[in-house]
Amino acid sequence: MLTESLTEIAARLQIDWVLVNTCLQFASWGLFSLLLAEVFRDSYHALCHQVNWLAKWHNKHHIAYRRDLSVVSLKAYQDSQLYHDILESSLLVVILTVIALIAHQWGLWLGVAYACTFLYGASLRYIQGTIDTDYNHLPGPLETIPSVWLVNRSYHWRHHFDDVNAYYSGVFPLVDKILGTALSLKGKTIALTGASGALGQALTAELLKHNTKVVALTTNPEKLSTQTGMKVVPWQLGKEAELKDALEKVDILIINHGVNVYANRTSQAINSSYEVNTFSALQLMDVFSATVTGPQAKATKEIWVNTSEAEVSPALSPLYELSKRALGDIVTLKRLDGVCVIRKLILGPFKSQLNPYGVMSARQVARSILFLAKRDYRNIIVTINPLTYILFPLKETSTWLYYKIFSQTEKG
Ligand SMILES: [Zn+2]
Ligand SMILES: [Zn+2]
Repeated sequence: MLTESLTEIAARLQIDWVLVNTCLQFASWGLFSLLLAEVFRDSYHALCHQVNWLAKWHNKHHIAYRRDLSVVSLKAYQDSQLYHDILESSLLVVILTVIALIAHQWGLWLGVAYACTFLYGASLRYIQGTIDTDYNHLPGPLETIPSVWLVNRSYHWRHHFDDVNAYYSGVFPLVDKILGTALSLKGKTIALTGASGALGQALTAELLKHNTKVVALTTNPEKLSTQTGMKVVPWQLGKEAELKDALEKVDILIINHGVNVYANRTSQAINSSYEVNTFSALQLMDVFSATVTGPQAKATKEIWVNTSEAEVSPALSPLYELSKRALGDIVTLKRLDGVCVIRKLILGPFKSQLNPYGVMSARQVARSILFLAKRDYRNIIVTINPLTYILFPLKETSTWLYYKIFSQTEKG
């Protein structure tokens, strides 16, 4: 009796195992096909902006919207559905069907069904002749910052009005991350503090190569030679509020100034470390945040803060670590309000006046920062210390969660 029931259980388990295996296979092929659909769609979109005869059709989509994403006219909207959405989703259905037929995997038909929903939606919008846009094209002011994981309105708005040769992704920003088009610097006005330092100068040089206008904010203007596309604006510690007008038209503010008192532990050293590394940076963040006004400012205005690797790793300078950690933690706290995109620059030791023993070159670091920023990394880690790549995300996530639970924004 007992032997029989055990055999039955074993047999049943075997059947279940086969079923589980089939389901897993279907699910993984299904997920893969959804990802494939998005990658194809975004790649086609990127191609539309490179190939003239494709651009002619795709452009119907661009001309259908005004800056606030309201539709120009019903005719323009219907044209955009026919020449862009219907065409694009039909191509997608055909390509994914061919792949599903060749690969003989049932899960791949999920991608076909997914593409069919786009084709159905676009056809319906075209035939019905009503303006019923998808979420990314809803009109009105942009109230949230561009999202990292999924394309939202602010993310896509930038494709229409910030730079049409970037922000191609429609749902997952994967293609943009690969192409380095998840943030466009072209034509932007970028202000940076600590402009006369080693990293400041390297960043200025790299930013100018990206066709940006650089506003070099420095407390040592005599140390800076002006270059084409660069404007030097002197400022003084403690007088951050005076920069409000200069920051009004700035798209990205890079807070990069700092002081290192090394082994010094006098009261004066404590004060100046916190004054320069923590409070001056926070003051500048507040001054810049006050300029994030207007219906589309949240999409393009950004703050990058050089909090340094000292946030999680030793910098062999206690006061540098303490003041930079305080800054890093408060930046995490401020990020919760979502005023604008705030990126952290978590940099390892590079050769500079603050650190003559640095191993990386400032130019190398500046290039890596921009490489990762264009891929929309919000925490830009550039270091040779492998531990930072593990410790920083753990620290940032746990601190973020803790602050999210135990703090709240001022009710307006
Ligand atoms: Zn669009
Ligand atoms: Zn486009």
